[in-house]
Amino acid sequence: MANTEFGYVRNFEQWDPLPPSNWIVVRIDGRGFTKLCKKYDFQKPNDRRALDLMNAAAAEVLSQFVDVVLAYGQSDEYSFIFHESTALFDRRASKLATSVATAFTAEYCMRWTEAFPDSPLERPFPTFDGRCVAYPKRKVLRDYLSWRQADCHINNLYNTTFWSMVLKGGLSTTEAEQALKGTVSSDKNEILFSRYGINYNNEPLIYRKGTVVYRSYDAELGTNGEESRGKPADLTSKTQLKKEKKRKRKAKIALEHVDIIGETFWETHPYVLG
Ligand code: ATP
Ligand code: ATP
Ligand code: MG
Ligand code: MG
Ligand code: MG
Ligand code: MG
Repeated sequence: MANTEFGYVRNFEQWDPLPPSNWIVVRIDGRGFTKLCKKYDFQKPNDRRALDLMNAAAAEVLSQFVDVVLAYGQSDEYSFIFHESTALFDRRASKLATSVATAFTAEYCMRWTEAFPDSPLERPFPTFDGRCVAYPKRKVLRDYLSWRQADCHINNLYNTTFWSMVLKGGLSTTEAEQALKGTVSSDKNEILFSRYGINYNNEPLIYRKGTVVYRSYDAELGTNGEESRGKPADLTSKTQLKKEKKRKRKAKIALEHVDIIGETFWETHPYVLG
């Protein structure tokens, strides 16, 4: 069937597998969300409904892609971490990125009305781009996640200060932007506290830390913290693989707004990158 005179065109396709034994990150990001925020009147600096929608879509992606061990989201972006051993789509970058981005997009649009019952979606509907990055070591993957969470913190501190100046202080957006030029974190903390009575550290964790989504096996952990995930024993047998898959499907999907830069999260959930 495929062996027609036309079949040779297949050879023009790029075979784009990501290198073995690398952690694969698929990061999706909303297209033109600056505009979308205005169109649907998102609350500034943070619209909780929009974040909850992002998180619900991400949780669904985790349950659909069993090889995703953890996801981290903030603003209009989400990073999905595929286990270093994943064989999904022969690890092809284009297949992974497009499948995750479209699954996320579909979920985001289908759930929109739950989050915004009074503003039905209009065309152009929200879409998300997706890209893959392969990280060869756990340490580099950890640094990737730290980078995204640090970005969340920096943006949120800036946005919280900026919008306080505009919404509470009556400054124009241009004035607020000017006033914040060249300021460092401690300046912003000080402005928030002295002018608006806001202690930044008391702002909701979801805004300051973003959201971590992972398959949680905590309830299954033995008293000594031993656990079956990642054990090399008999992993090649088909029944064992099937069992593993079933276990992942049944695992609870946890959503938390916690620090993932320090060691605590990883020490208390060692199996996540196991
Ligand atoms: P691009 O298509 O290049 O990604 P963009 O307009 O989406 O362009 P981003 O850099 O992704 O640009 O920025 C997303 C914008 O959406 C930021 O301004 C961010 O503050 C805003 N945003 C995202 N989520 C929320 C939210 N829950 N509440 C308020 N604003 C949000
Ligand atoms: P993969 O995820 O690898 O793409 P797949 O099951 O989607 O797996 P394809 O090779 O893409 O496999 O084949 C698509 C299947 O869907 C074919 O069996 C095709 O006949 C069927 N199909 C697609 N569109 C229609 C349609 N409009 N009516 C009937 N069958 C359809
Ligand atoms: Mg962008
Ligand atoms: Mg965007
Ligand atoms: Mg973004
Ligand atoms: Mg198909």
